[in-house]
Amino acid sequence: MDFSLTKEQKFFKDQVSRAVQRIVAPSADSIDRSDTFPRELFRELGSLGYYGIRYPAEIGGMGADCVMFTILSEELARASIGFAAIATMQCLMGTDFIHRFGTGEQKERCLFPAIRGEKIGTIAFTEPDCGSDLGGIKTRAVKNEKGYLLTGRKLWITDGDVADFVTVAATTAPEKRLGGIGFFLVEKGTPGFSVGQKIEKMSARGAATMELTFDGCQIPSDGLMGEEGKGAKYLNDILSEIRIMIAGLGLGLAKSAFVSGLRYARQREAFGRPIGTFQLIEEKIAEMEVRIRSAELLTYHAAWLKDRGSLTVKEAAMAKFYSTETACFVVDEVSRIHGAYGVAEEYPAQRYFRDGRFLLFGGGTSEILKTIIAKDTMKKCEFEIN
Ligand SMILES: Cc1cc2nc3c(=O)[nH]c(=O)nc-3n(C[C@H](O)[C@H](O)[C@H](O)COP(=O)(O)OP(=O)(O)OC[C@H]3O[C@@H](n4cnc5c(N)ncnc54)[C@H](O)[C@@H]3O)c2cc1C
Repeated sequence: MDFSLTKEQKFFKDQVSRAVQRIVAPSADSIDRSDTFPRELFRELGSLGYYGIRYPAEIGGMGADCVMFTILSEELARASIGFAAIATMQCLMGTDFIHRFGTGEQKERCLFPAIRGEKIGTIAFTEPDCGSDLGGIKTRAVKNEKGYLLTGRKLWITDGDVADFVTVAATTAPEKRLGGIGFFLVEKGTPGFSVGQKIEKMSARGAATMELTFDGCQIPSDGLMGEEGKGAKYLNDILSEIRIMIAGLGLGLAKSAFVSGLRYARQREAFGRPIGTFQLIEEKIAEMEVRIRSAELLTYHAAWLKDRGSLTVKEAAMAKFYSTETACFVVDEVSRIHGAYGVAEEYPAQRYFRDGRFLLFGGGTSEILKTIIAKDTMKKCEFEIN
């Protein structure tokens, strides 16, 4: 058993941490307050090649492993969840379909500039009436002589206001539910594609969540990413990695919040002594540390399994569930440690508290993840002695 990072991974962690602390961390508050896309920061991080972390060097990527991707997620989230939401969307979900299924021209136009941070990509499956239940989406793709005609509405789409291209889930056969879904590349400026209302939210600010409308939007045949009806399978192929990535975000947020709580507990005095010496505050500190370390083990173990080709759906689900719930636990406890200052604008505790909520939905809600974990465990539990 070896729980340490390799030399290369340690070097990477050090590099990423320095870059993120220099480029992103100083702007975390202003990104949150202004709730606007930080274009300059986005470009700067792109110029360092991080958005291509999963892609091969031949196309400008880093060809890094899942452990390194998890390190990147964690370090980004330590600085700013809003920015981390933007950057990780660019690294994986916003660009993966075009990487796997795009034509050479589509990659030249969208993927390669996205890797450099010059263009922005996102993914759209959630609809006003439908989130977890992907098979229930209503956006239709009707085949015609020119390709596909897209009609429908999407909601909660990260970076929808600034995205240059969107990978959109639509159904060609609603009666087949998941078996009818395909993903379609829609580029900005396509007639019939428009950006609607912004959802004002308290969490992951800076990464705007938007309504997108497709009103008879004509997509060429090669706009279909892969094959008709296989979209849910394609999404499933990357779902575990998405979950590990979000587990990494949870870890980063939990650690940042924990450190701020710890500092406060050392400095703040009540009844003539630092509040961190009261048993009830010590209990919070101990519990937070143990939960964060447990989340770290689950998360990096899942990433390590992924790199060895032996990751199971359950391992990734456990990592995402536990790490994000831990982050929410920690931000709550840290807020309490801050007393009234936990809700004061001048302290980051209130931002951490709000940002924790963002982690609970994408990649599967905790309820959905627990269902996956329990069903798998009911079939086979490793603790049983045969
Ligand atoms: C900040 C933010 C950014 C987002 N960005 C994007 C994006 O870029 N693209 C995109 O497509 N979507 C995006 N989403 C949407 C996100 O993917 C959905 O919120 C998520 O899929 C859950 O769907 P829902 O919110 O509609 O909840 P629902 O699916 O309606 O669930 C509501 C409640 O019911 C529970 N529930 C549902 N089904 C079950 C079940 N079978 N068993 C037990 N409980 C169940 C859920 O756990 C939850 O508690 C974003 C959301 C947020 C908050």
